[in-house]
Amino acid sequence: MGTGTGAGALVNGELVHGLLHPEMGHIFIRKHPDDLFPGICPYHHDCLEGLASGKALEKRYLIKGQELTDESAWQLEAYYLVQGIMNYILTLSPELIILGGGVSKQSILLEYIREYVVKMLNVYINSNKILNNINSYIINPSLGDNAGIMGALALGLKVIGVNK
Ligand SMILES: [Zn+2]
Repeated sequence: MGTGTGAGALVNGELVHGLLHPEMGHIFIRKHPDDLFPGICPYHHDCLEGLASGKALEKRYLIKGQELTDESAWQLEAYYLVQGIMNYILTLSPELIILGGGVSKQSILLEYIREYVVKMLNVYINSNKILNNINSYIINPSLGDNAGIMGALALGLKVIGVNK
């Protein structure tokens, strides 16, 4: 959740790759009925990335996301991001969700996301992890801003056959 919106899935320690790679930021979501913003994705306009990426936030509110203090703006952001997260929960059944990137640094956003995931799933997924431990089910990366570069290093080490 940063300039763009994307996601990856780790299954049995391996990233899901597929034909090219998953583009989980470009999924279609339900637009809020009061939202007139057309979205910014050049391919789909109002896909998840088109409505909720850092670039979309900037275009929608005409300020950078880190300067955005309006709680209703973060509630709308959570409304969109949670639809994506719900789709990932329903299709992949992840054991843990890690939200990184610049947009995820808004602590109020993480609180809304956790709250809305529980609400929007509406007990359909009857898991103790979601219902009673949402704060440990949806987390920020423990490596913080170094998560991306550390992941790249880990991948490089794996490619050249160095374990850990
Ligand atoms: Zn798109």
